[in-house]
Amino acid sequence: MPAKSKLGQNFLDDEAAIQRITAALGDCSGLTVVEIGPGKGAITRALASRDGHVLAIEVDPELAARLRAEFPPERVTVVVQDVLDFDFAAASATAGERLQVAGNLPYYITSPILLKLAASHAALDRAVLMVQREVADRVTAAPGSRDYGLLSVTVQMYGQVEKLFTLPPSAFSPPPEVHSTVFRWRFAPRFAELGVDETSFPAFLRTVFAQKRKTLANNLRAAGMKPAAVVAAFADAGIDPMTRAEALPVEALAALWRSIKKKEASSAGEAATPVTNSLL
Ligand code: SAM
Repeated sequence: MPAKSKLGQNFLDDEAAIQRITAALGDCSGLTVVEIGPGKGAITRALASRDGHVLAIEVDPELAARLRAEFPPERVTVVVQDVLDFDFAAASATAGERLQVAGNLPYYITSPILLKLAASHAALDRAVLMVQREVADRVTAAPGSRDYGLLSVTVQMYGQVEKLFTLPPSAFSPPPEVHSTVFRWRFAPRFAELGVDETSFPAFLRTVFAQKRKTLANNLRAAGMKPAAVVAAFADAGIDPMTRAEALPVEALAALWRSIKKKEASSAGEAATPVTNSLL
């Protein structure tokens, strides 16, 4: 069966890497592991040999049929579905526990999958994911580094991430054009700890990271915030308005968001123009 490049089918062909991925999940005895894109079953085989249940989500019906023929349903449930439509919350409720996630991801939808996992965080315990090396660099980047940006803060708001190891194209068949990196994501959202709202803070992050070359203050003004209010909010949060969002840790961005919200609350009821527009 020829690999379908449109579906990101680059099959992992490196036994040591497969063992490292499953080991990185830790002890999953009796737990449910959701595998994203099981393909021909390279990682599924290693997962199914451990104690626990595998929910394998594969969009390609031909590959799904192969997996069903190989694995007994009591060890592996094969779901033929686009993972972006998979209901992690319902699967977690059925399993009666937070889910473990593993996958050598189809690279053409890496970002939507990461955002889907972030949105499903309440249903998830940890994930061990293979992505393009550059994406792993961005996801795990520290403030001030070249790779730090919206993807880094967004993923890191939902828990701790760590890079594990990198593989060359030759570890796959057919080989992709890029290197690949496995990272681990332990879900532990930071919204409550940072005193920010789960809906409006991500929207605020999108605003302040909207244009990489603009300062934070300019991005806020471009989003409709009044110049005087921008100055006041930065002063309150102790942040230089000329800073770029890329230089700030999430704690500082949260402090700025809280000070903007405080100003909004104190100006509510006054006839003055609101401090921010509905984007924030
Ligand atoms: N896990 C296998 C391995 O490591 O050899 C295959 C990994 S391959 C990089 C990605 C897999 O994701 C392919 O089997 C592909 O058919 C599947 N896939 C692509 N798009 C998908 C989607 N939207 N939902 C679920 N699976 C998808």
